[in-house]
Amino acid sequence: MDETDSKWMQRAIDLARSKGSSPQDTPIAAIIVLDGAVLAQGVNETEERCDATAHAEMMAFRAAGQVHGDMDLRGATLYSTLQPCGMCTMASIWTKIGRIVYGAGRDDVHAMYFEDRHLDTMDFIADAWRDDLTLEGGCLKDACASLYFGPDDDVPEELQGNI
Ligand SMILES: [Zn+2]
Repeated sequence: MDETDSKWMQRAIDLARSKGSSPQDTPIAAIIVLDGAVLAQGVNETEERCDATAHAEMMAFRAAGQVHGDMDLRGATLYSTLQPCGMCTMASIWTKIGRIVYGAGRDDVHAMYFEDRHLDTMDFIADAWRDDLTLEGGCLKDACASLYFGPDDDVPEELQGNI
């Protein structure tokens, strides 16, 4: 990771914060960069759309397909403020995106952000047919993690989307 990655991640953080400053506002954002420019971006809209698949990354992939005119995102990088969940990791594999950079990782936030007890982003990528997808975490980790409930926060069950 380099300064360019930090720049894009900061942009993702700003986008996430546009949803609100509380973890309850689900301030999760994703940005897809291709050839040094933003191709598309998205924020978590699951509540707003009553759609469990409307994660920030999925919203960004849908928008990217529209502007790119192609579902194949080879050569692009996905920046996400939070480690992608299984669904978004799988979607990343299907898009043929070349690189995933995320901010806060699974151990930096509450377990509520992940659907699986053990299976992880890395497991899906390691088992994919593709071998040209790279994954890097921890970009502006603390700033990203501060957006979310922490590992030891006492989160009410009704806010825990994974149970
Ligand atoms: Zn997701």
